[in-house]
Amino acid sequence: MSAAALTWGLCGRLRRRASRLDTRETGPVDIPGTMRTWSVARPGPIAGFPMVRVERQVPQPGDGELLIRVRVCGVCRTDLHVAEGDLPVHRAGVTPGHEVVGSVVAAGAAVTSFAIGDRAGIAWLRHTCGRCRYCLRGSENLCAASQYTGWDADGGYAPYAVVDARYAYRLPDGYDDTALAPLLCAGIIGFRALRRSGLQPGGRLGIYGFGGSAHLTAQVAIAEYGARVHVLTRSADARRLAVELGVESVAGAYDSPPEPLDAAILFAPVGDLVPVAMRALDRGGILAVAGIHLSDVPTLHYQDELFYERELRSVTSNTRRDGRDFLALAGRHHLEVTTQPYPLDQADRALADLAADRVTGAAVLVGEP
Ligand SMILES: [Zn+2]
Ligand SMILES: [Zn+2]
Repeated sequence: MSAAALTWGLCGRLRRRASRLDTRETGPVDIPGTMRTWSVARPGPIAGFPMVRVERQVPQPGDGELLIRVRVCGVCRTDLHVAEGDLPVHRAGVTPGHEVVGSVVAAGAAVTSFAIGDRAGIAWLRHTCGRCRYCLRGSENLCAASQYTGWDADGGYAPYAVVDARYAYRLPDGYDDTALAPLLCAGIIGFRALRRSGLQPGGRLGIYGFGGSAHLTAQVAIAEYGARVHVLTRSADARRLAVELGVESVAGAYDSPPEPLDAAILFAPVGDLVPVAMRALDRGGILAVAGIHLSDVPTLHYQDELFYERELRSVTSNTRRDGRDFLALAGRHHLEVTTQPYPLDQADRALADLAADRVTGAAVLVGEP
């Protein structure tokens, strides 16, 4: 909290140094002084309306920052955890949202990587220290000083948002804004999990649970790795979608796939499925657990579930390299993205629908054109 507050204090000072005239020199962009934005005022159950709409200053970008006009912001389950207080408060009254697709309307003086008018994305990871042992070895996802959009800093449930240009993403062509938004969290995290599963070209991959992240990951495994994908999920609708996307087989979550697996990813937050998936692995196979939350894992039986060098791995956030590699891949292979749009001013309804499993595909908030 204090570190975040300190960072924000610094940003405030830097912001005053960035000139709005810079923007107008490059192109006529009309930026209002204030905006209506969502704020998690009282974290608690979504039925009790923990978010309110407030009038706030439009932030000005610091030296190395971009000001993004938000066109679409995806709605992620993590936003629900922020609103409901499952995640501890890092910034009081935070604006949620970390799947932001928009255009650059202003940039700090030090920014050279983006220009006014560029399409850009803001994702969950927004800051790492760059100096710790994890950062230095390319594992910035493990940095203890990492900060996250829509939790440590205000996110995209708003008409405008700022981001450090080094953490903003260039977005692939061939997608509209609504289809891009879910790629920025569900897509990137699923790709990280796929890498952690050690899948090799032509390998046999099991996917347990088939929601927003899994349905993108399955497409990547097929298109980029030529994998044979087996989907194991309780949802009949999800099994139908999996078949449409070209997987080899579908079955119930506790069923056995028709062949041993070289790699598996557990997307369902159900610890009981860990031994089930471990037994489905071939010798030397790897199970990656994709979620932040998992119910307790039952006792594992060494001989049946771990021996023969089977491995169990967790997945924690992602690096910027994961994000860039995934978005480049999404540019090479067109991914089918199912979305359910809501106007920005109905973000609370979108989160309530997500909580009640009333969303087909990924919910996205669409700002004013
Ligand atoms: Zn997310
Ligand atoms: Zn670090």
